[in-house]
Amino acid sequence: MLLPNASGSYAVGVDVGGTNIRGGVITKDGKKLGEGRRPSRAQEGLAATQRMICEVVEEAIANAGVPRAELMGIGMGVPGRHNSAEGIVLYSPNFIGWTNVQLLQPVAEYFGVAAYMRNDVKTASMGEYYFGAGKGNQWVVMITLGTGIGGSLIADGKLMLGSGEGFAEVGHMTVAPDGRLCGCGNHGCWEAMAGRDAIIERAWRALQTGHPSVLGDLADFDLNKITPALIARAANDGDALARGVLEETAMWVGIGVANLIQVYNPQVFIIGGGISQAGDLLFSAIQRTVNWRAQMVPACTTQIVPAALGDDAGIFGGAVLVFDALKNG
Ligand SMILES: [Zn+2]
Repeated sequence: MLLPNASGSYAVGVDVGGTNIRGGVITKDGKKLGEGRRPSRAQEGLAATQRMICEVVEEAIANAGVPRAELMGIGMGVPGRHNSAEGIVLYSPNFIGWTNVQLLQPVAEYFGVAAYMRNDVKTASMGEYYFGAGKGNQWVVMITLGTGIGGSLIADGKLMLGSGEGFAEVGHMTVAPDGRLCGCGNHGCWEAMAGRDAIIERAWRALQTGHPSVLGDLADFDLNKITPALIARAANDGDALARGVLEETAMWVGIGVANLIQVYNPQVFIIGGGISQAGDLLFSAIQRTVNWRAQMVPACTTQIVPAALGDDAGIFGGAVLVFDALKNG
């Protein structure tokens, strides 16, 4: 296993998504100098995606105009479950046939530098922790709200992986015993109550009652056109029905946030993902639930904030995996 190039000046962080792969040259002080981008070619097998990763790294370095010799290492955020120390993807829902595959080694050998990987949510949380909304803090929890809810904990400055790297499957903690059925088979998982489908279903049901709302017009009364972003927009424009949907959703988000604050009492609790862009309306409703439900720890000291790096969190996080490896020898 190679060590990071200590005399280098930058790392390349790569966000390996199911559709696209994006990479960026990140300096030690957190500046992004250049980017690369390719399709993931998820349907074409492991070697095709590895080739795309290498092209992304080369393009990012070329666009940044930095010497290749100063590359410290490469860090990647990859969806799924891994044995990251060995560079092995155990399972990734976005890539067909990626069961127990060696992802990292060919990339590391191609460039002759150290390469690292973590789960995509955990990688993004490292980006936010070092350079984004968690900067300057040692105890950070991050969740991403989407179709599911992903989680990550940084405890005393260290990313927690847990045994089998199965730590922080927070989306599947039960928050409502008789709640909606979750994709995992359980009822009332946090992501079944606060994830994308729950928000849309809530809006759809409210529209069925015949309450007036711009949401109906915006989505053409088509269930498939209702999105969390559309609901957030209508709510921020003052639409009462959309506001109700957002506030009910915020309550469910807040219940899980309160539970995690009770357990970890982080300094900062970062919320990322599409709906986190809904702004004050969402965050003030989450805060109200947390104030009410997390009273046994000094929860008022936990700052609940939106993610700051947006789509770049995975790229910054990938670079942080390299910086962190160097720091920890
Ligand atoms: Zn579940």
